[in-house]
Amino acid sequence: MPSARFGSVVGLALALAAVSPAPSFAAPPLPEAAKPYAEAAARIIAAARADDAAWQRLARLCDDIGHRLTGSKNLERAIAWAKAEMKADGQENVRGHAVEVPIWVRGEESLALVHPRAAPLPMLGLGYSPGTPPGGVEAEVLVVVDEADLERNKARARGRVVVFNDPMRPFDAVCGTHYGEAVRFRSSGARMAAEHGAVAALVRSVTAHSLRTPHTGTQGYREGPPPIPAAAITTEDADRLARMQARGQAPRVRLAMQAANRAPGQSENVIAELVGRERPDEVVVISGHLDSWDVGQGAHDDGGGVVMAMESLRILRALGLRPRRTIRVVLWTNEENGVAGAKAYAKDFAAELPKHVAAIEADMGAFDPKGYTFQHLDPAAERRGLRRLRALTALLRPIHADHAESGFAGVDVYQLREGRVPLLGQMTDMARYFDIHHTAADTVDKVDPRELADNVAAMAIMAYALAEMPGRLDDPEPEKK
Ligand SMILES: [Zn+2]
Repeated sequence: MPSARFGSVVGLALALAAVSPAPSFAAPPLPEAAKPYAEAAARIIAAARADDAAWQRLARLCDDIGHRLTGSKNLERAIAWAKAEMKADGQENVRGHAVEVPIWVRGEESLALVHPRAAPLPMLGLGYSPGTPPGGVEAEVLVVVDEADLERNKARARGRVVVFNDPMRPFDAVCGTHYGEAVRFRSSGARMAAEHGAVAALVRSVTAHSLRTPHTGTQGYREGPPPIPAAAITTEDADRLARMQARGQAPRVRLAMQAANRAPGQSENVIAELVGRERPDEVVVISGHLDSWDVGQGAHDDGGGVVMAMESLRILRALGLRPRRTIRVVLWTNEENGVAGAKAYAKDFAAELPKHVAAIEADMGAFDPKGYTFQHLDPAAERRGLRRLRALTALLRPIHADHAESGFAGVDVYQLREGRVPLLGQMTDMARYFDIHHTAADTVDKVDPRELADNVAAMAIMAYALAEMPGRLDDPEPEKK
């Protein structure tokens, strides 16, 4: 065997390299539709990778302001910061777009195992959860795996704390993330439990990997039975409670939460523009959400997306790349618990939506960019838009972000779907995203400067090409001759 002769695979590779030239994998030629933007794309990539400006900007947001829950002083500070930064960048039409937002406050909260022994349990209340009565609720737990398990055991749910212990499967190359299926107990577990008379619900954190970190998030129920307090617990403690129940130890917990829903308040989406040189009334939106959960720093979710949009506009302006149409940064407010910012934008800018040629959202973390999802209200427009998008994503081959597929583009831009706006979602390598999603560990040190810079490059190139190209992604096909 040749490998035995050289002693190792490395030796074999070196030997082969010595006798034959490295095989050359010629890149396929750039599609005609992408060629006009190739030079700009190369300049954008060089500018984005030249330094760690994007990461430094994200670090200031994360370190100086921190997490940014709707209704918090921190979010107000972040809104003022984003406006000041983009004014300093020389952006045009920097302004706030006033939005009425729901206000949920966490307050003091705690969870403890009280039987068969006393031990504190790390927890995070879920958005929109009501608080417990003063002093908390104490009850035996009923651990269930899923809906069918709850249905089988519903007679035992009354007066109990129902624990949903459905493990999220790890990220895999074929299916990607399993977040979409695992999150349903966080979204509606409390409602399911309340229907059977439970006094509270605890949900296994939506993650496949845990360092005993609880993951918060919102829940979707405001109809049905009166809401019961709901919180996330760690995967480790969910498993522990399940083991205790299986051993017949009848574990009991005490949950105390001061969470409350308050009267609606005021917030703002932040807007800034690079005004188009030929068709200023036609708009490409680039966006991320400025609010975050009230734990960690909201670095990947979604400080990264915010900085991608801000830096894209800064780099395009610095390079003198003013496209035909306007590129508009929109930093959404209240994505995490209400989506009020994007809903208000869709309503208040309804008359302009026909001239929104695309809306890009980055809200899948700031890991290596992979490409774009594409979504359109009209399936035929989605098919031809995706075909045209694939020509443009070829511009992103140098940063390995040239993938394009039909798919959900993001919660915020989804609000523009009824306005028939072509929607793009910035895809990233999500293998590690849900390990830290909505936790105290979502901090800026988890963001890699080069990966963030490549995301900036991808968004700036895509925004530029969409704002510069003669037509729109969803234009009807030309008449066949
Ligand atoms: Zn997000």
